[in-house]
Order: sequence, then structure tokens, then C-alpha cells
Amino acid sequence: MAIWNPWHGCKKYSPGCANCYVYRRDNQFDRDSSQIKQTASFSLPLQKDRQGYYRLTAGENPIYTCMTSDFFLEEADIWRPQAWDMMRQRQDLKFVIITKRIHRFSVGLPQDWGEGYPNVTVVCTCENQQTADQRLPVFLSLPIRHREIIHEPMLEEIQIRPYLETGNIQQVTCGGESGEGARLCRYEWIRSTRQQCVDCGVAFSFHQTGAVFYKDGRTYRIPRQLQQSQAKKAGLDYRPPRLPKTTEQMEELFQRLAASEFRSRFSLTPALKQYVLEKGEDTLRRHAKELIRTRLAPAYPKNDGKQTPMKNHPVFVAQHATACCCRGCLEKWYGIPKGRPLTQQEQDIIVEILWEWIRRKAGPAEEIP
Ligand code: SF4
Repeated sequence: MAIWNPWHGCKKYSPGCANCYVYRRDNQFDRDSSQIKQTASFSLPLQKDRQGYYRLTAGENPIYTCMTSDFFLEEADIWRPQAWDMMRQRQDLKFVIITKRIHRFSVGLPQDWGEGYPNVTVVCTCENQQTADQRLPVFLSLPIRHREIIHEPMLEEIQIRPYLETGNIQQVTCGGESGEGARLCRYEWIRSTRQQCVDCGVAFSFHQTGAVFYKDGRTYRIPRQLQQSQAKKAGLDYRPPRLPKTTEQMEELFQRLAASEFRSRFSLTPALKQYVLEKGEDTLRRHAKELIRTRLAPAYPKNDGKQTPMKNHPVFVAQHATACCCRGCLEKWYGIPKGRPLTQQEQDIIVEILWEWIRRKAGPAEEIP
């Protein structure tokens, strides 16, 4: 992990800013944090050493960007295009931008941004319910490839389930507040967010307890150096197995399936191969889409565990071969919990998996008997 601070200083903007660590630290050195200035490391991603090698290397990923300011500050509008350009040039680096000003995301966005640079993760901070409900709909409407949420400092219990159910949030991180005058963080708030993440198959991280932490009827004062380790000791971090979203992930999935004695037994009979040839890709995808929508996508599918026959249609066979046959298998293989409907994105990815399996097993059209 490395840090790149292209500018320094910030303006307090929301409830989470009250005890901002940038202000606290600058205070110690008699510096005015509200003065926003470019730093000497502004061009760090492009800086090279005497041998001509980049000073920042992919081995240091992720690169936390603008950690003593906010990347989307109005005062930084003139510098941001250059910062984006450096990120575009360094595709080998993975930049992480944490912001409370997601509403300013589009100001100065590069023309070639498209659906988002693949090496940029944007993290939207929401410290309470009000900021979550203001910022997350905006966040989800923006062209960003990798989205995460942070509740830090977490100031109350926050319900974000509807936003997680979109399938477009990759991780949620929670943490308390540190420093002088830190506000209390309650264990049950952290548990609540974790449960929402588990239910929606979203990764969860408990980053730090903060200085004042309440659990089981007791308030704990936790020294700075123990706040992260105490959070890790709680054992709340969660990493769901994922549906594949890239070609590499799809390949990894097929390797895992090939390694499974049960899943690798499935194949297409000559009659089913003939069926694939006659019906073609569009029809098979349509069948798969409809079967997934009606038999797998509901929160509680009818006859769950027995809803998919073992033969008579290529999609049925593909469902068993790829562990997309019932909600139990889906939970085990892809971390999608039972008891909630599948998002449209999840259904689309499952159709991709099924077609990929059918395509591989049916072989080239000329080989189909
Ligand atoms: S947005 Fe972040 S850096 Fe800026 S004042 Fe608030 S807490 Fe501090």
C-alpha cells in the first residue's frame, strides 16, 4: 500500500468532519488545514528515480489517493484533470479515492473516462443515515467501475440494504472515530452493517474500533495503537465468493468446476448437442434467462433444491455443472445468500456462465452430430 497526496488541506463539510484527523495533525504543527495547496508529490505517479524507474510501483498497490484532502474539492478543480491524466498513464497502479463529495465527481472528468478507468476505485463515505441516503443514489448513478462505501467515523446505525442489492457495491468498511473528543461507536451498528453485507453478498471490513467503543453494556476507551488490531480480533471481516465479472474470473471458475468431481461429470448428450445446434445461441440464452428468472431469482424459489431436472435440456445440465441449479449451490459456490431475490446483474452473469458452459461442451458446430 502507498499514499499519494497531490494536494493538502480541506474544508469541513459534513458531520463526519467534526474531528477530522487532517485538522488534528496540522494543528500540532500550527498549520491551517483549510488552506488547500498542491504538494511536492503532486506528480508522484510519474516521478522516476535515477535509473529511470518509476518511484511508485505496482508492488505497492493499492495507491490511496488524496488522504489529507478530498479529491473532489472545488479548490482542486484546476489540478484534478492532471491527476486523472496521471492515473490514466499508470494503468499498472490501482488508485483508491475516498470522498465525501461524490456530487462533484463529474466536474473535470476526463473525456476518455467512459464507464470508468479500470484501475480506479471510488469510495463514498457516509457517516450516518442522512449522508448515506443523499450520497449513495448519486454514487450509484455515476460511471464508476469499482465502488466501495465507508462508514467512518460511524455515527449511528445505517441501513444501506437497497443500495447493496443493486450488486454494484464491492465492499463496505466500518470504523469508529479516533482522537481527542472522539464520538462513541457501538458494536451493534457494525454488526448490522455486516449482516446487510452478508445478506447481499458484499465484502465487509471492520477497519477500526475508534477511541470510544461500546459493546455488551460496557464502554471501552481504546488507545490509538490498538484500534485496528481490536477490530480485526472481532473476526467480522467477510469475503464472499463472487460471480465472475471478467474473462479471467470466468476462466478461474471453470478451473474450479473442472476440479470438482461432481460438477465435472456433467456433459451434453448427442441429442442435446443437436438441440443446441438447431436452436442456436439466442434461443438458448432466452431459455436460460427465463429459467433463472422464474426458478432461481425469487428470494424463496418453489421447491428450492429440487427445481432443476438433471437432464432433457442443455440449460438444466449446465445449471448442475456450474452450480447454478438451486439457491443452496449458489450460496456455496458464489456466496449469494438465500432469502433475497437475485439482482438483474446477478441473473445476467448466471446466464453468461450457463452459455459459456454450453458453448464449451457443444463444441464447434461442425463437430455436433
Ligand atoms: S472531507 Fe475528509 S479531509 Fe476533508 S475535512 Fe472532512 S474529514 Fe477532513
